[in-house]
Amino acid sequence: MIEAASRGASATLTTIVEEGWFDQVLPEVRIAGREPGFALLHGHYDSWDVGVGDNATGDACMLEVARVMHAHRDKLLRGVRICWWPGHSTGKFAGSTWYADAFARDLARDCVAHMNCDSPGCRDATDYPTIPWMAENRAFVTEAVRDATGQVAGGKRPTQSSDFSFNNLGISGCFSASSRIPKAEVERRGWYFVMGNGGNTAWHTDRDRIEVADPGVLLTDIRLYALALFRLATRLAIPLDPAALIAELRGHLARYAKAAGARFDLSPAEQAFAALDSKLSDFAASNPTPERLTATRLAVLRQLVPLDYTRGTRYRRDIGLPAPPLTHLAVAAELDRYPEQALGFATTTLRRGLNHVLAAIEAARETVPTS
Ligand SMILES: [Zn+2]
Repeated sequence: MIEAASRGASATLTTIVEEGWFDQVLPEVRIAGREPGFALLHGHYDSWDVGVGDNATGDACMLEVARVMHAHRDKLLRGVRICWWPGHSTGKFAGSTWYADAFARDLARDCVAHMNCDSPGCRDATDYPTIPWMAENRAFVTEAVRDATGQVAGGKRPTQSSDFSFNNLGISGCFSASSRIPKAEVERRGWYFVMGNGGNTAWHTDRDRIEVADPGVLLTDIRLYALALFRLATRLAIPLDPAALIAELRGHLARYAKAAGARFDLSPAEQAFAALDSKLSDFAASNPTPERLTATRLAVLRQLVPLDYTRGTRYRRDIGLPAPPLTHLAVAAELDRYPEQALGFATTTLRRGLNHVLAAIEAARETVPTS
């Protein structure tokens, strides 16, 4: 076609798009721990063409992690669930959304954290520069990458792609991308940026075949996922830090307050965050048992995670579009766009958003034991 185009020729392309509802299977592994809580590892099995790097390597990784977790099930404090999703590309995260609906109450009550597995184990992918993480699991992910791979991890704010279908339920999530081909090597090859396949441009093409994968890189990534999941399932105190999320939310709030200026007073939210933060640090200083620490961390995160990633309610998953940080107050950054006579529309939205945020922070504070 490139050749034909250079001759000025024309071409007609036709395609057949199949639409409709199709029954799918959703394989799930459940390995019980001694206690009711569980950690969820998940990834999609539907693919574009053969899809070795996206996501057969991820599916293989999760199979091996399932085998290892089962072999060590006597050591698990919390349980482990591993899911292989259909409908990732062809249903806009339909498999994980179905699961979030079907097991919503289970997840909201007992899921301590979730990890997504997408495109690990691709050839020459030896860096970990952009792992999706949330503020409260940043330190946990960084340590797991260091201990399993010897590398320094970098991160980014997770989007709803990669089946982050559990934000509304208030569940902390991390990973999807793991190893990537070093940026300098991508540039040396003259490649453009692609999200999947560790940066290999075979992503989402019919070239995504066995040559894309590398057994050594895949083994390293399997170790990384296994280690992270094992820690979530065995650490007495869950390795998630709500104070780090509060600090991040206060950063967003300060930015919004500055943008709003005299047009809207966001200081009640800052006062509420400060009060929550100080109650949490008093609690931490009171030397609580790991069980109480875990319960409190999870209860606070149930309230705060949705604040940073969702527009909707707990049991109605947001549509699969990115949500701005501290979502309900994000309109504060856009007030300049409103003409004077229409400003009331924006400030009313902001008033409602502030009410939502204050209620969530107060609910979080009530879950923290008075020490
Ligand atoms: Zn993928």
